[in-house]
Amino acid sequence: MLNLKLELEKVSSVVIAGHIRPDGDCVGSCLGLYLYIKKNFPKIGTVDVYLEKIPDSMHFLKDSDQISQEYPDRPPYDLFLALDSGDTQRLGEAVKYFTEAKRTICIDHHISNKGFADENYIVPEASSTSELVYGLLDPALLTKEMAEALYMGIAHDTGVFQYSCCSPKTMEIAGKLMAMGIDFSGIVDRTFYQKSYLQVQILGRALLESMMLFDGRCIVSVIRNKEMQFYGVTPADLDGIVSQLRSTRGVEVAIFMYESNVQEYKVSMRSNSFVDVSKVASYFGGGGHVRAAGCTMQGSMHDVVNNLTRQIEKQFEQETQQ
Ligand code: AMP
Ligand code: MN
Ligand code: MN
Repeated sequence: MLNLKLELEKVSSVVIAGHIRPDGDCVGSCLGLYLYIKKNFPKIGTVDVYLEKIPDSMHFLKDSDQISQEYPDRPPYDLFLALDSGDTQRLGEAVKYFTEAKRTICIDHHISNKGFADENYIVPEASSTSELVYGLLDPALLTKEMAEALYMGIAHDTGVFQYSCCSPKTMEIAGKLMAMGIDFSGIVDRTFYQKSYLQVQILGRALLESMMLFDGRCIVSVIRNKEMQFYGVTPADLDGIVSQLRSTRGVEVAIFMYESNVQEYKVSMRSNSFVDVSKVASYFGGGGHVRAAGCTMQGSMHDVVNNLTRQIEKQFEQETQQ
């Protein structure tokens, strides 16, 4: 297993980066680790954290204002820590620091991760990168602020301790973080459940326009660019729509996609019990987990839906043959 303490004792500059369009686990694991290194490794002169814009609701986390969204040219870092990213492309602009860094470490739980760093700590069974980060730290050196960040990450990636990736170990860790006096219900409510009125409206629209395929085993919903413009929403406002679709009774696979460019769609998939959506996403150049995955696809909306459902149909057929 990765010995993070040993690695950190050898370096004097560290960079932490997560994936593009950062989610709760990405933000929580990056900030939790950032706070831990800053506090417990004072000999490391430079500790930087790079992430694309994070949701406003996560600004309560300590040092969230220290996150850099600009990527200036600078001397190579001694150590690059890649968190919650399945491949180097997902690192976005921070990839340039990755390429230059003297040593690189990847901490991740995506099944599609092939191990792109010098040292790879990849545990697909783990609920979240935040859970993995917790396991690498000395619990005696954790502060309440670190606990807030890691708890948020775990809560988000488990759908608030609901998905099958949530294990007894996950709950034990969450319990220990909870015991540090964090406002656990407030964190979940403000960062996971609460939506702006615009988000509620676009969710309603997506549900209303959804369609059922394969005798109700697959639900699909698409939001076009003109709709996003009409409601004045950004891609970040569409988070959570696919989870809502997934909870429709009888559905095995939920697909949500939005037009990310001309003839280009960002696809999110969720499954309930047997379809491996990571396999489907990887087939189209994306990745993720068995029950939650994504990719970006080119073509018309109908082409994209057809191509996706053809792959999903194969898995439905295999299941009926068994
Ligand atoms: P999303 O549907 O965007 O919430 O993503 C579901 C899961 O799949 C997350 O764990 C993502 O990190 C992963 N994922 C989404 N899109 C991609 C992509 N284009 N390439 C690799 N992994 C992805
Ligand atoms: Mn993530
Ligand atoms: Mn994650």
